[in-house]
Amino acid sequence: MSERFTGSFTQQEPIPEAGIEAALRVLRHGRLHRYNTTPGEAAEAALFEEEFAEFTGAKYCLAVASGGYALGCVLRALCIGPGDRVLTNAFTLAPVPGAIAAVGAVPVFVETTEGLTIDIDDLAGKAAGAKALLLSHMRGHICDMDRLMAVCDAAGLKVVEDCAHTMGAAWNGVPSGRHGIAGCYSTQTYKHMNSGEGGLIVSDDADLMARATILSGSYMLYDRHRAAPPAEAFERVKYVTPNVSGRMDNLRAAILRPQLADLPRQCARWNALYRVLEAGLAGTPGLRLIARPVAEAYVASSFQFLLPDWPAGKVRALLSRAAARGVELKWFGADEPTGFTSRHDSWRYAPSQNLPQTDRVLAGLIDMRLPLTFSEADIALIARILREEVSAVFQSDAEAADIPAAD
Ligand SMILES: *Cc1c(COP(=O)(O)O)cnc(C)c1O
Repeated sequence: MSERFTGSFTQQEPIPEAGIEAALRVLRHGRLHRYNTTPGEAAEAALFEEEFAEFTGAKYCLAVASGGYALGCVLRALCIGPGDRVLTNAFTLAPVPGAIAAVGAVPVFVETTEGLTIDIDDLAGKAAGAKALLLSHMRGHICDMDRLMAVCDAAGLKVVEDCAHTMGAAWNGVPSGRHGIAGCYSTQTYKHMNSGEGGLIVSDDADLMARATILSGSYMLYDRHRAAPPAEAFERVKYVTPNVSGRMDNLRAAILRPQLADLPRQCARWNALYRVLEAGLAGTPGLRLIARPVAEAYVASSFQFLLPDWPAGKVRALLSRAAARGVELKWFGADEPTGFTSRHDSWRYAPSQNLPQTDRVLAGLIDMRLPLTFSEADIALIARILREEVSAVFQSDAEAADIPAAD
């Protein structure tokens, strides 16, 4: 009898009890709006921003409604608008090119390496004429940030980091989100902290953060923030910055504060699961693991591997055989977008671009969630199943065309 996995790949852990208690306190006093405070009271949202600024070492922090909102808000605060070219990763999630399109700017996609990071040589070639780089640390893979910043500084490109998958991670000891002019994070359910929806922006740039705060809908109540720039910065921008409301509320901030306190422990748990899977898959014929550079302190809330140059039929066969044994894999090579997974050629609001290197990587790229509700024993079982199925499909003589599609 072959083994079968029965866990759920989309089941997160419950909100910690301290977060539930804090949420109940907010619900009982009823002041959910972040500016609805009693005299002298610090709102949960303001306290959360202060704590997140400290966690990342940033001077300023703003909590907002979603990760996608954070990205768009920073682009607006950088005065990027219609017709401006903004570089970004060809391998990322839809909210990233979406944020660029939302301000009327043009997404320009940069190629992807086999390490799943942005191709810095291709970036250098495309930098001329672009205003900014919206750098996505997609699936937690961090490029050589020292080299990237040198290239972008030389080209006069502002770097905004999308840290949806790197909250708690670092490159060469510098926290992810602290290399460029601003870092953006998501606290949506499938990220490293869970408030259902939510986002964060960090930066040391006072003017940028004053604009972002007013954009997020602070009205003239910005003095109720604790991690915002000084009043002079707001004086410079308050009459000319529109309100594009997207605040975080006190209920979400209340459930996030205890999760932030626990984040380093959670990151270590993700990495322990990752290492079990990595060891369990090492040496599987036909499967290539993603090398992780020494300078990269990652947080592995998901796992990727490559099936280099496999025909599409064989990849589909693997997906359906793994699914039949309870292992849910996602494939970035599928022609049609499904669920959360889509590819640059489905983002047709952006001009169509030729990205042969990315297409080749994505054609063999398999992705799997690592929810913290899985134990190391669960992961060891998943590794055994994958090793068997990958080997079986890789070594089978079946022609790609003979294998029926998974769906
Ligand atoms: C989730 C995600 C975002 C933004 O997330 P929201 O759902 O808007 O909070 C941005 N970039 C990447 C790579 C993501 O996975």
